[in-house]
Amino acid sequence: MSTASSAPKTIHGSAGQKRRTSIGCWDCRSFHRNCEKTAARWRRALTGALPRLVTAEDIRGDLHVHSRWSDGMHSLDKVAAAARKRGLAYIALTDHSRSLGVTRGLTIERLMEQREEITAFNRNSGDFRVLHGTEMDILPDGSLDFPDEVLKELDFVIASIHSAFKQPREQITARMVAAMRNPWVTMIAHPTGRVLGEREAYEIDMDDVLRVAAETGTAMEINAYPLRLDINDRQARRTKELGIPVAINTDAHVITNFDFLPYGVATARRGWLEKVDVLNALELPELLRRKGRNSGKFGGH
Ligand SMILES: [Zn+2]
Ligand SMILES: [Zn+2]
Repeated sequence: MSTASSAPKTIHGSAGQKRRTSIGCWDCRSFHRNCEKTAARWRRALTGALPRLVTAEDIRGDLHVHSRWSDGMHSLDKVAAAARKRGLAYIALTDHSRSLGVTRGLTIERLMEQREEITAFNRNSGDFRVLHGTEMDILPDGSLDFPDEVLKELDFVIASIHSAFKQPREQITARMVAAMRNPWVTMIAHPTGRVLGEREAYEIDMDDVLRVAAETGTAMEINAYPLRLDINDRQARRTKELGIPVAINTDAHVITNFDFLPYGVATARRGWLEKVDVLNALELPELLRRKGRNSGKFGGH
């Protein structure tokens, strides 16, 4: 801003040396380098053109939730009651798939049993709904843990990587791209695999991954678990530029994990995501309409 109040002033530091500062210009304390940028931002704010960023209150459901069918702590009833208590209208129960033995991943037979429990639950659940999903492993060779005949029966298919993290960049990227090209895969969970303070992201080409996500209509997750926050804010910004649908999920294994949602929302806000960019800010009928009945993929708004 080129007002008199933002003109540089000379002040004296404690050591007596001169340094310049400016007053009245929020972004330009370093020698007015960003003055034009700040002025543009103010102009947008004053004309109401700044985006209204997504808030935790906008979130209507959680699309990545575990129960004791695999490695979660609680029954379906308890998980659903906890989600409902927090004001959510739906969850996708997405227990692990059979290859992930340490999590008691579900065989196809157990997945079908789980379906019966969910169907029975939904009969008496009023306006709260549980979707039947899976968090299915993308196997080291790029194949998926369940065949298409099983996947097409599910409401929400997450694919994710839980093994062979150290594969070379081309291999692990190709592995994820192959999963995204499957017509029934709805979303990729924790796409880079980072665990803060524990494990770096795998060597994956996120430019490639996001390009294919945009091309195929595969959603990307912002995993709200505080040690993950995966994808990060810059990648979230990129999804918006490319028009990729994003879901902000807690990946709850214990019902108190639902309280992590604001961390995911904060990441989305740092990426400048608005309500319209976030799938689980949709009411369920609209979400299902966007997903379509004969594919796991999402169409446009
Ligand atoms: Zn996972
Ligand atoms: Zn999970």
